[in-house]
Amino acid sequence: MSKALYPVYRDVCGWNAMLPPRRIKERAIGSIRVRYAVVGAGYTGLAAARRLHELDPEGSIALLEATTVGEGASARNSGFVTPADSKIGLSIDEMDRAEQLNAFSKEGFAYLTDLMKAGGIDCDLERSGRVTAAATDLGAEKIRTMIEGAKAHGFDHQALDREDLAGLIGSRYYQCGLRIEEGYLLQPATLVRGLADTLPDTVQLFENTPVLELQDGPPWVLRTPEAVITADVMILATNAAIKQFGFWRDGLVTIYTFAGISHAMDERDSARLGIKPWGLLPAHRLGTTVRRVGADRLMVRSLYAYERPLDAAQVQQALTSCFHRRYPDLSHVPLHHIWGGTTALTMNGSPRWGRIKDRLYGSAGCNGSGIVKGTLLGKRLAEMIVTGDPQEALQAVYGRANRIAPEPFRTIGFHAVSAYQRRKAGLEM
Ligand SMILES: Cc1cc2nc3c(=O)[nH]c(=O)nc-3n(C[C@H](O)[C@H](O)[C@H](O)COP(=O)(O)OP(=O)(O)OC[C@H]3O[C@@H](n4cnc5c(N)ncnc54)[C@H](O)[C@@H]3O)c2cc1C
Repeated sequence: MSKALYPVYRDVCGWNAMLPPRRIKERAIGSIRVRYAVVGAGYTGLAAARRLHELDPEGSIALLEATTVGEGASARNSGFVTPADSKIGLSIDEMDRAEQLNAFSKEGFAYLTDLMKAGGIDCDLERSGRVTAAATDLGAEKIRTMIEGAKAHGFDHQALDREDLAGLIGSRYYQCGLRIEEGYLLQPATLVRGLADTLPDTVQLFENTPVLELQDGPPWVLRTPEAVITADVMILATNAAIKQFGFWRDGLVTIYTFAGISHAMDERDSARLGIKPWGLLPAHRLGTTVRRVGADRLMVRSLYAYERPLDAAQVQQALTSCFHRRYPDLSHVPLHHIWGGTTALTMNGSPRWGRIKDRLYGSAGCNGSGIVKGTLLGKRLAEMIVTGDPQEALQAVYGRANRIAPEPFRTIGFHAVSAYQRRKAGLEM
């Protein structure tokens, strides 16, 4: 990430670029007094602002977004959604915790789908199933464990061999896989834009309004380039950018990952993409995600970079190689849009969440699955604030992000671990 207080992207989000232009909300200007200020209009901030309104309809809310909705990480992702916890949901070692996490994920998913229905947000939500597939022997072992997990947790599922996968996705790249019925794909820019554009009137969304300074409160005073906002209660829903405000620096790492969407293909080439819709996650966490987009495009997500983006030409080459290795018959099809986005990782996969100081709250560390988790954590944060419920059950089951070694050991450690994991991932990348 740049030295700025918020992620600044040099590229355009492909999902957003494929949509008609949206009417951007005004920047914050002058002196503004509100009951609640929420910083960051991604899934977490949008859910927090919405839930604050539901529980305290008279309370004024300012939602401040550094860029525009549709250009932040909440639009830059791959659009995989599952009502099961994406990390622990199939665990056999932690059966009880997995069940509880899955219940929280279901709550986040239901909240999101209710908002889609109520707001008429048509974000191409498709029940595609969630396929995880392996291209290596090590990955195949992981798939076998996942199949056991799916059985133990009673998920409607299907074990897939190479032929099944070839029929489904049109590529013989993978040895085997697991398909869980409860998995969905969506267009993330349409969703996040829809959530922002259907906010209730008491929530004032300001775009292109980066918070540059935070004065200790309460009341909390936020400075943006053209405004001073004073709030009784504040939520930092900035994901890993919360570190730039001086909080939770010991637990969060900003990771960039990259995605590209192909040109629209003609009928003959589209026929090589298998049966639509499908989305495929890799057996190894450093592997490549692939999904079909509509009838005639393919999206590929891969590569990780620590705290700053990679060179654009390097990303283009690597993503194109991931695509064409899987689809050699489509090697004449280029990637049309290519972009990067940030996500916040923690060592043990638990988020940092809750009260930071008197009337200052935060949520960060969705570990790459923030569409549902961010929504749930934003919603529950608002409930904690308005009702005073300490959310002990949620905190106990999600756990707390553990400390990461300070610099320079953190950077050295990250590069050592990722080099080792890349070797292990092999063809999953
Ligand atoms: C390429 C890619 C693929 C992914 N795929 C998936 C997927 O398939 N499914 C899934 O669930 N998740 C996926 N993720 C992760 C997901 O996008 C994140 O977990 C999610 O965006 C987190 O939501 P959030 O609201 O917590 O944070 P963000 O979406 O990062 O939102 C935080 C917002 O805060 C704003 N902000 C930061 N600092 C300031 C400031 N100082 N002032 C004002 N505003 C500020 C930012 O501009 C940003 O818009 C992916 C991520 C990437 C990058």
